[in-house]
Amino acid sequence: MEKGQSVLHTNGKRYIVSCVVNILIWLCNKNMKNITVEIQQNLQPIVKDLVLIGGGHSHAIVMKMFGIKPLPGVRLTLITAASDTAYSGMLPGHIAGFYSHDECHIDLRPLANFAQARLYIDTVVALDLENNKVLCANGLVVDFDLLSIDIGSTPSRISVSGAAEYAIAAKPVSQLLEHWDKLIEAVGKNPQEPISIAIVGGGAGGVELALSMRSRLHQILHQTQQPIQNLEIHLFQREQELMPNYHQSVRHQLQQILTEQGIKLHLGETVCKIAPTTHKGTKEVFEIECESGLIVECNKIFWVTQASAPEWLKTAGLGTDEQGFILVEDTLQSQTHPQVFAAGDIATMVNHPRPKAGVFAVRQGKPLFENLQRILLGKSLKPYKPQKQYLSLIGTGDKRAISAMGNAYATRGAFTLPPHKLLWHYKDWIDRRFMERFRFE
Ligand SMILES: Cc1cc2nc3c(=O)[nH]c(=O)nc-3n(C[C@H](O)[C@H](O)[C@H](O)COP(=O)(O)OP(=O)(O)OC[C@H]3O[C@@H](n4cnc5c(N)ncnc54)[C@H](O)[C@@H]3O)c2cc1C
Repeated sequence: MEKGQSVLHTNGKRYIVSCVVNILIWLCNKNMKNITVEIQQNLQPIVKDLVLIGGGHSHAIVMKMFGIKPLPGVRLTLITAASDTAYSGMLPGHIAGFYSHDECHIDLRPLANFAQARLYIDTVVALDLENNKVLCANGLVVDFDLLSIDIGSTPSRISVSGAAEYAIAAKPVSQLLEHWDKLIEAVGKNPQEPISIAIVGGGAGGVELALSMRSRLHQILHQTQQPIQNLEIHLFQREQELMPNYHQSVRHQLQQILTEQGIKLHLGETVCKIAPTTHKGTKEVFEIECESGLIVECNKIFWVTQASAPEWLKTAGLGTDEQGFILVEDTLQSQTHPQVFAAGDIATMVNHPRPKAGVFAVRQGKPLFENLQRILLGKSLKPYKPQKQYLSLIGTGDKRAISAMGNAYATRGAFTLPPHKLLWHYKDWIDRRFMERFRFE
């Protein structure tokens, strides 16, 4: 399927028949808390449009659960920017060369088929919440009764001169992987040419990216019998320490691993400007300037800074936090618009804020599904409280992983295990088991 194409999945006929047989009764109340689907015995019920924007982790689970437990009379539609979506737990392993593209991506087409959902491959650019319409980049307009948003986040770089033009953002993942594939191809062709890579952002994503990139490029240098000194990796972090959301013991261990692996850490350095310099050999060269006056030259710059949200959510009138993320109640319902739900990175739970991580997006999938069904059935919503204590398995790029058990903002004690192959195997088993849920033969 081509990108940008719209695809209507199979249950069109079913709906036409059901619409003819049934009397369409709308209990359309602007207050979605009152939305009810009338289900009559042996008759197809009234159609309600549930539209999901973004095929992120939470929505992948919602779709799977809708396929298992469909709600008669509810037409499900997924609008998403690409036909597959990366599973964040396996993304660093894919960059390191341990997983293929298919192993770490959920194909949304068979999933939509399973959920009997319409699938539109398009990017949402605006919402009309007065008239309940979704507006897409290709001109498509989709009506909804109930809306759910799981579009992830993108690294923020607005204020840094040259970042938008010359740095490669870690999201969308498809773009990151496109650049990464080109880079490893280029290194494979000319392994004798020195290469310098910069990663801006020392959170979990930036650290894992640095370790995975090093691992993959070292494999290439090793295979082509080139010195590993041909590769330089720089990691820039505004704070004095890496991974501020993690417990001190995790931070220290990872900092030690990065240093041992020869990754040059620039801690307490805020990148303020990126500019191209003259070409040296076949590669582009950029100058990275920090507020301290430090200047580092690099060939490729990857941007993995703090998560940010698109402007159109705020423009639509949705209640958002200071960073533009949708404020949701414990039920994952928008604080300001009851016909809108949100989950994953794009949502901020007012009472239970958590770091922006795939693990939370995954866990919100089931409560989101349940509350979407409950509101459609006219039932009261159930609150959901994300775990405070959770287990993190962080890959170190060499088929080992660190295990950290701690609370969400690392404010209290944590239980940390040093990097080990067994922990990697355990992580690999968990991740593969998760992905199995989305294989449809
Ligand atoms: C390099 C890197 C490594 C990471 N590693 C980990 C890790 O190991 N563990 C972990 O827990 N977290 C990790 N994270 C964080 C993790 O990727 C995110 O927290 C997670 O992906 C959020 O999931 P989500 O469901 O909110 O959205 P996403 O998984 O980002 O999915 C969003 C979906 O919405 C679609 N979309 C986006 N915008 C639109 C639009 N306007 N219209 C329509 N569709 C749209 C996208 O195509 C995508 O399919 C990592 C992040 C990075 C950058």
